Formats: sequence, structure tokens, C-alpha cells
Amino acid sequence: MSNILVVEDESHIAEGLRFNLEAEGHEVEVAADGRAASDALLGGPRRFDLVILDLMLPAMGGVEVARRVRAAGNFVPILMLTAKDDPGDVVRGIEEGADDYLTKPFVLDELLARVRALLRRRRWDAPGDDAPRAIEFGAVRVDFDRFELEGPQGKIELTTREAALLRALIEREGRAVRRGELLEVVWGLRPETRTRVIDTFVARLRRYIERDPARPQHILSVRGHGYKFIR
Ligand code: CA
Repeated sequence: MSNILVVEDESHIAEGLRFNLEAEGHEVEVAADGRAASDALLGGPRRFDLVILDLMLPAMGGVEVARRVRAAGNFVPILMLTAKDDPGDVVRGIEEGADDYLTKPFVLDELLARVRALLRRRRWDAPGDDAPRAIEFGAVRVDFDRFELEGPQGKIELTTREAALLRALIEREGRAVRRGELLEVVWGLRPETRTRVIDTFVARLRRYIERDPARPQHILSVRGHGYKFIR
């Protein structure tokens, strides 16, 4: 059983989600606008295991909710719901830390599958069972089963995408990897998508793993190309 916050102002969608998620055995709370969601996540009594976050909301938009939650150091998995006619929403949402997204109108089974995947953080969603479960380099130890990283800043809980990006770089150790390849592998976006999400996430990973993030030793920039991981 998991605690799920559904943030959606269209009550027929919110109640439909509540009904189906409760049928899967979860506890569900609904927030009908962005401010209520932000209050529930940052000040409320309940600890949530997952947030289903619509982007089009009264009072405060979903992107802003995600930004505030992440800025407060809360790394609850976020599944974003976006309108089909604005692909820019997807990019803005993941830049602010959403873990996954689904475009409206969505198929219920697809949404439930995404929910299960996000709640099952201990398992990798990508194929390749020989992928390392834990790895050490320099002063860093990463446990990919627990989504935990221990580094110069102490213990950090990684979001699913942070872990996936780090793993993608580690698997390509010593090779300069293009941003487009990382966008495709880690976020399932088209390689030519215009976004600074890779750079934002790399800056975050550097804060976790580098002794001096301004002079990185492990995730190096390759000018005009992308990034390269060095153990
Ligand atoms: Ca809405």
C-alpha cells in the first residue's frame, strides 16, 4: 500500500484516478489546485510515496509545484500529466524534476503501469540484468537498488532520472556522450529536443559526487558534444 497524492482540478478525472488507485490498494488524497498540492507536500501531515501531477491547475501550475517540492529537498516520485498540444510542457516539467510523464488523454492501464514502475524504485526499468547494482569511484559509492549515493556531501537519495542519467554515463565510461543520446536513453525524448535538462541534471549530479563541482573529476564536459564519465 502506498500513499498517493493526485493533483488535478478536473474532478471527474481526479475521482476516476482515486477510484482506480484505491482499487489497486493505495491510499489516495486529492488536491484540486497547485497551492493545496504544495501545502500537502511541504507542510502536510502525510508522507507521500508518489504524486500524480497535472500541469494545468488553478492557483499554481504543476511545473511550479514540482519546482517548489524539489527546491525543498523532497524527492517523492512525480508522474506528470501534460496536454497533448504543448510538448514544451514535458520539457519544462522534467527540467523541474518530474520523473515521468503521460500525455492527456491517457489510457488508464498505461497510467497504472507507470505508477507501479515509479513505486518499484528498487528495480530498474531498463533492460540489462548485468548492469551494476552498486559502484564505487573516488570518494563515491552509489547503490542503484536503493537509489542511494554516498559522496562528499554525505548521503543523497537519488530520483529515478538522476540515477538513470548517472548509470547511463557510467555504462559509457570514458566515451564522450552526446546530449541527444542521453535525452533519448534517460527521458525517452527525441534527441533533437531543445532543452537544457541534461545540463541541469549534470549540475545536480556534480554537486552530489564531485569534491569541487566547479572542477569536476568524474563527469567532464566535452565542448560542443556532451559529457564523459571518468571513474
Ligand atoms: Ca487540469
